[in-house]
Amino acid sequence: MKTVASFREPYQAHLAKGKLEAEGIPAIVLDEHLVQINWNFSQAIGGVKVQVPEAALDEAREILKADHLEKLSAADEAKLEPAPHEVCPKCGSDSISSHRYSLWSLIPSLLFLLPIFFRRKKWLCNDCGATW
Ligand SMILES: [Zn+2]
Repeated sequence: MKTVASFREPYQAHLAKGKLEAEGIPAIVLDEHLVQINWNFSQAIGGVKVQVPEAALDEAREILKADHLEKLSAADEAKLEPAPHEVCPKCGSDSISSHRYSLWSLIPSLLFLLPIFFRRKKWLCNDCGATW
């Protein structure tokens, strides 16, 4: 295994590891616990290291160098379908709001030591008034 990158924070190393593994390159994180015990060690030991098999070293460097930000911003958010719970099932409007049960509905449970049943959030369509 060869070190492909080193980071000051363990989470940064894990992000890199995940990125490499998503591209099919096995990777390990080294020295993260040492850094967590005493973060001053991070500088002294050269940071939290990410290692990959020697054969994949060049490819791993390229993957870590690549910036996918452009691809992300190019994705047109307007084209994304709203999640099913974000539209009214009756009229299809996306103008909906949620209403939770008020805390007052908990009082009988508290007074009589009954179990509290948490009901799921309800949604209200602002256009047709449907609830679900
Ligand atoms: Zn509706």
